[in-house]
Amino acid sequence: MAIECKNMVKIYPNGYQAIEGFNLHIDDGDFCVLVGPSGCGKSTTLRMIAGLEDITHGTLEIDGKVVNKLPPKARGIAMVFQSYALYPTLTVYENMAFALDLAGFDEDIIDKRVRQTAEVLGLSDYLERLPRNLSGGQRQRVALGRAIIRRAKIFLMDEPLSNLDAKQRVSMRSELVRIHRNVGATTIYVTHDQIEAMTMATKIVCMDVGVIKQVGTPEELYSHPANLFVAGFIGDPPMNFVNGHVEKGVFYSTLDDMKLDGLSPELLEKLEGKKLVLGYRPEHSFVEKPEEDCVTVHSKVEVYEMLGDVQNVYCNRDGLTSIIKAAPELNVEIGQDITYYVKKADLHFFDAETEDVIE
Ligand code: ADP
Repeated sequence: MAIECKNMVKIYPNGYQAIEGFNLHIDDGDFCVLVGPSGCGKSTTLRMIAGLEDITHGTLEIDGKVVNKLPPKARGIAMVFQSYALYPTLTVYENMAFALDLAGFDEDIIDKRVRQTAEVLGLSDYLERLPRNLSGGQRQRVALGRAIIRRAKIFLMDEPLSNLDAKQRVSMRSELVRIHRNVGATTIYVTHDQIEAMTMATKIVCMDVGVIKQVGTPEELYSHPANLFVAGFIGDPPMNFVNGHVEKGVFYSTLDDMKLDGLSPELLEKLEGKKLVLGYRPEHSFVEKPEEDCVTVHSKVEVYEMLGDVQNVYCNRDGLTSIIKAAPELNVEIGQDITYYVKKADLHFFDAETEDVIE
């Protein structure tokens, strides 16, 4: 089912405005991820959609109907939280059957659905176990099972993977995507982790304190960040930034001898006279000069981290700090000079005052 948020505002009883004019359309079947730093209002938004918080102003529509006043139960949604909220004395089977039991379904229908759902989630061998005898990942799957079994049209998930260890989180990410494909329900997923957003979302909503900064596919947010906030939030390590300005067709960095010419006349026209921030991603930096038009950066190695398949090299010169991703074979020493190149096509310009991208 489609969801439409129109100018939604949340002011808590203590007067704190957690959400300002939130506008968002979520298509039927979307896997929509609300991502942003802690405290930006993701859970508040999710809880308003769930009906667990009043909407102060604006409207929420589900499947074309305004549901502001509908209680959570009547909204056709299922929620999955980071704490699994399983009944500790009930088996996996009983935990999954519980809601259907309560709703008065026949035993054979319940049995069929529990077994089908367990199959989808890879829980068939664990139906007689108690939650305490399951791993974190398995418990989270039971919690998902309880949501799926009700055949809810909309799933709301609030940081559902944050109690899992790093390895389980990675495997649950792809499992959630697979389950979403099988079940097809519209899903809204809250996380502060941009990697979860990038790997799972069909639509990312990147938020900063109380506001949406950009909505788009993972590819759009990565390749075309609309502002400095999104540019710095999406990507790991984050995008490098350099302050500067354009004079007589040349970009000069304020911090070191980095300069850049040969920019297109259309772009130059938009850049002239503004305080600028130039951004480029660590993975778009090369220590060997590529064929394409490039900008050259001279720096010094400060620290490096070997990750096996890649190394992150932290550079600093004249106050300009930057990170580049280099091949593991590259020999680097702390304190050595390093020169690297970034293709012009991989540069992003932002207006330092409005923080918006200039393209
Ligand atoms: P997130 O999920 O992005 O971490 P939240 O939606 O939980 O953020 O919170 C957004 C802001 O609203 C935070 O500053 C938080 O302190 C505030 N907040 C949350 N709940 C309440 C409440 N019941 N009363 C007042 N302020 C609240």
